[in-house]
Amino acid sequence: MKRTKQTAELRVFISTSDSTCDECGEHLGRGAWITLVTDKGAVCLACADLDHLVFLASGDAALTRRARKHSTLNAVVLKWSRARKRYERQGLLVENEALEQAERECLADSEVRARRREREAVRRAELDRQYIERFAVRVRELFSGCPPGREMIIAEHACLRYSGRIGRSAVAKSLDEDAVRLAVISHIRHVETSYDELLARGYERWEARARVEEAVGRVLTQWETGK
Ligand SMILES: [Zn+2]
Repeated sequence: MKRTKQTAELRVFISTSDSTCDECGEHLGRGAWITLVTDKGAVCLACADLDHLVFLASGDAALTRRARKHSTLNAVVLKWSRARKRYERQGLLVENEALEQAERECLADSEVRARRREREAVRRAELDRQYIERFAVRVRELFSGCPPGREMIIAEHACLRYSGRIGRSAVAKSLDEDAVRLAVISHIRHVETSYDELLARGYERWEARARVEEAVGRVLTQWETGK
């Protein structure tokens, strides 16, 4: 007879009480895996012709979905939860080949994903490198008096902030004169003044900023004019 598409899900229960198979009479003990047959009762997996299936515990949704798809016959495994007063799904009984097929597919997928991540990381690194160069050039253009090498430090820092927001407009905006100026000011504040020390000594941010404002202005002018 041709197998028709399964409508109701086959269910296997992990029994909580001592049970005996109603078909073969075997004593199964506690915690046995049984099926419930309408006018019988507990039936062991061997009698139910399900003992060739392998158990796949819940937890990996993709693996479960694929294993179920590939398995001609499958059964959901349920266990009574005393605490929750309901049956809870423990996993799935599936054909061994189906599980192996599913595992191969999931493995292939994760390899594809890993390769894609690698490609993206390389691309991101390249974009970041280009960005740092452009930003450093902008700093040098606008602040000719900036000590050698500083433009790279400022650019790298700016890149950290920009990284992840790859949009062209975000990049362009961050290269605006005002944006570059803000990045330079922030760098000067941290590196050329006592700002960080003041913060470490417990000054409020606004207070510390006010204290170093003049010093920042002096350095900024030097860098801008190159004098
Ligand atoms: Zn039996």
